[in-house]
Amino acid sequence: MTTPFARRTSRVQPSAIRELLRLGDDPSVISFGGGYPDPAHFPTAELTSIFTDVLASGARTLQYTASVGLPRLREQIAARMTRDGTPCTADDVVITHGGQQGLDLTGKLMIDPGDVIATENPTFLGALLAFNPYEPDYAAVRTDDDGLDPAHLDEVLTRHPRAKLVYTVPDFQNPTGVSLSLERRHQLIDVANRHDVVVLEDSPYRDLRFDGDRLPTLASLDTEGRVIHLGSFSKILAPGLRLGWMMAPGPLLDRLALLKLAADTQSSTLNMAAVSTYLERHDLDAQIVRANASYRRKRDLTLATLDRLMPADVTCTRPRGGLFTWLTFPEGFDTGDFMRDTLLPRARVAYVPGATFFPTRQEPNHARLSYATLPEETLVHGLGLLAHHYAAAARA
Ligand code: PMP
Repeated sequence: MTTPFARRTSRVQPSAIRELLRLGDDPSVISFGGGYPDPAHFPTAELTSIFTDVLASGARTLQYTASVGLPRLREQIAARMTRDGTPCTADDVVITHGGQQGLDLTGKLMIDPGDVIATENPTFLGALLAFNPYEPDYAAVRTDDDGLDPAHLDEVLTRHPRAKLVYTVPDFQNPTGVSLSLERRHQLIDVANRHDVVVLEDSPYRDLRFDGDRLPTLASLDTEGRVIHLGSFSKILAPGLRLGWMMAPGPLLDRLALLKLAADTQSSTLNMAAVSTYLERHDLDAQIVRANASYRRKRDLTLATLDRLMPADVTCTRPRGGLFTWLTFPEGFDTGDFMRDTLLPRARVAYVPGATFFPTRQEPNHARLSYATLPEETLVHGLGLLAHHYAAAARA
C-alpha cells in the first residue's frame, strides 16, 4: 500500500545529523552536542517533596484544569515577567507544553503554505522542525556578534511580500550564543512595525546571563501588539516538566489559546501545581544564580581553552550567557565529515555540525558546542582532542 500521508509530512524527515548525534549519545563519547541543561542544577529533592505534598493535597491536581493553565501559575509567571521589565497580568499568559509547543502553535496560527518566515541565519533547529509542517518558505537574515541585522531584515521583508513572521532568539541564541544588542532591539521593532509583521520572540535562555546588564524583551518594546513572547522552565528548572508559556497581546493570545485547547486540552495539572508550589516555597532566582555561577565557569574555561589550543583560523562566539558557543572553521572545511571520519572514530568527541541550523543555504564549516553538562576536566580534555585533531587535519 502507498501510505497517503499529507503533503506537509514531506518536510518531516529524519536527518543525517540526527544519526550522527545518536553516535554522540554513547557514554564513552565526550559530547558537546546536547542542548541539555546541567542536571546537577535540577532541584530534585525539593521537587520530590513538592510532588508528594501536591498529590496529598487532594484529587484536584489530578483533574483537568483551564486550557490556558493553572491560574496561580499564570499569575506567578506574569509577576516574574513584570519584575523582568515586561509588565503583564495572568490574562496575558497561556501555559504551554514547553517553549517548543509555543513554536508549533505560532506556526499553526500564522503560516499558510508558501508564507515566509524570516529567521536568524543560523537559527534554532527545533523551530524549523516545528514550522516545517506548515510549509513556510524561509528568508535568512544576516547575524553577527550583535545578533540579527535589522537593516538586512528590512531588505529581506521588502523582497518578500508574503513575509508574515520574524522568528528570533534575542538572548543567548541557539546555536550561536549571541544576543541582540539594545539598539538593534529597538530597530527590529521599528522594522517589524513598518512591514506589519508579527515577531516571535523565543527566549528560553534569558535568565542564564553571566555578564552585562539585562536587555529589554522585544515584548516590552512593542507598542503595536505584534510580539509573541515564549518563555520556558526548561533551562531554569527542569526540561522534563515540559512547561513553558506564551505571552502575547489579546487578539493573538485568544487565538493561540484556542489552538492550545485543540492541540492537547491543557498542560499537565500536576506539573503546573508542582512548579507553582516550587515558586512559592523556594527562591528560583537564587537557584538560577547558583546554576549561572557554574555555567559561567564552564563558559570561561571553554573560551580560554579554545583560545589556547585551537588553531587561529577557527573562531568562536563569546556568549555572555546561555549554553552554547559557535565555532567557525575556514571555508571549505566540513564539520560533518570531520566528525564522522575523524573526531568520533579517533577521539570519541562529538559536537553538532552547524549545517543543520541554516534555514536556506547550509554552511558546512560551523559547529555548535555546548559547555553545559560536561565536568570541567572532561570539557578541557575534549576541547584539547578537538583542537589536536583539527590541527592535524588542517596540516594534512
Ligand atoms: N527555543 C530554543 C531556542 C531552544 O533552544 C529550546 C530548547 N532547546 C526551545 C525553544 C524549546 O525548549 P522547551 O520546549 O524545552 O521549553
